[in-house]
Amino acid sequence: MDALRRVSAALAKAPAVLIGGGAGLSAAAGIDYSGEGFRRAFADYIARYGFSDLYSSGFYPFPTEEERWAYWARHIEYTVLARPAMPLYRRLLRLVDDKEYFVITTNVDAQFEKAGFARDCLFVVQGDYREMQCARACHQKVYSNIEAAQKILAAAHDLTIPSEYVPHCPVCGGKMEMHLRVDRYFIEDEAWHRAAQRYAAFLHTYGRGEIVLLEMGVGFNTPTIIRFPFEELTMADPQALLVRMNTEPAPPRLPIQARTVNIEAPIPEVVDALLAAKQENAAT
Ligand SMILES: [Zn+2]
Repeated sequence: MDALRRVSAALAKAPAVLIGGGAGLSAAAGIDYSGEGFRRAFADYIARYGFSDLYSSGFYPFPTEEERWAYWARHIEYTVLARPAMPLYRRLLRLVDDKEYFVITTNVDAQFEKAGFARDCLFVVQGDYREMQCARACHQKVYSNIEAAQKILAAAHDLTIPSEYVPHCPVCGGKMEMHLRVDRYFIEDEAWHRAAQRYAAFLHTYGRGEIVLLEMGVGFNTPTIIRFPFEELTMADPQALLVRMNTEPAPPRLPIQARTVNIEAPIPEVVDALLAAKQENAAT
């Protein structure tokens, strides 16, 4: 495949790689939000609440906090606690680990970190399933929810929990919320801002050379986070190569067509092919 050869050659040469990870990447990795895996793990929820997928279920108007946190603990278990680093993420790391790299992602499932990507090289923009915050953002801090989730899982019965297991804000005593960007109360804490600064610093250092931008599974839900900025970066840097996997090509009005490669093949196949080419290059 010519497109893959071109990407592989660019990767071999580039000192730096910027990865943009969207929902399609975790779906390609096998984290199943609506298929058989979801239906098995949430059969009781589907029967009671009529859930169709693990995205919309997060917005279900649970009648009580006890039911809501029982649900979220199951969600956290399914997406994070019971899930190791997926092979696709581990292979992706092997593809870039001899370069300067940085990852910006809208994914909240911690897969980049689990796979071994350096935490200093990650900007996780939209929150993290492993964290919670004050629902009204009364103070700018986020908290791990892992221990709370484990206790809830042990205490849950008939899709609810005793009230004493419901998390409360340690400052105002109000409701807690998952640390996910669903409304204007989303907290961008110190760690978030430091990551944003490291991303800016990475772009400052490497965004004007032979950088490869790997845009993986990024759709149109939040195009201002990865998709549009990657197009702008490609426009600003005549040596950049934008590689779009599993999404629509850049609009023809943008003068970056010649430096954009669109790959429609499944992402795991693409990563495997690029990895094989890299190993072949290393051997010769
Ligand atoms: Zn509070």
